Amino acid sequence: MSIRNIAEGWINFALDSAGVGLSDKLQQMITLRAETCRRCPSLVERPATIGGIPVSSFKCGECGCAFPHITYAPQKECPLGLWESVVDEDEEDILTGHTSVLKDD
Ligand code: SF4
Repeated sequence: MSIRNIAEGWINFALDSAGVGLSDKLQQMITLRAETCRRCPSLVERPATIGGIPVSSFKCGECGCAFPHITYAPQKECPLGLWESVVDEDEEDILTGHTSVLKDD
């Protein structure tokens, strides 16, 4: 996963967690991807601790990317081809800093 994909995934995840509205197009993409990942046998739990407190988090066992953050990066593709990038090379030019430009028409 590229640095750009990682950054977009984490930024969009943080914005969504903070209640900042994502576009309907982006939200729909995230929901569909997350449903697929949750049914995928390659989604694995990775135990961790925060301040000594056990917490659980998940990652894709194929590419190692964090879940659900992986679902928030428009240019990311599932390594098994179960979902695709939704951004083509033309659209990539307008994604200069943040994916919030993906507004519905
Ligand atoms: S990204 Fe693909 S391979 Fe990884 S957990 Fe999701 S559906 Fe499975």
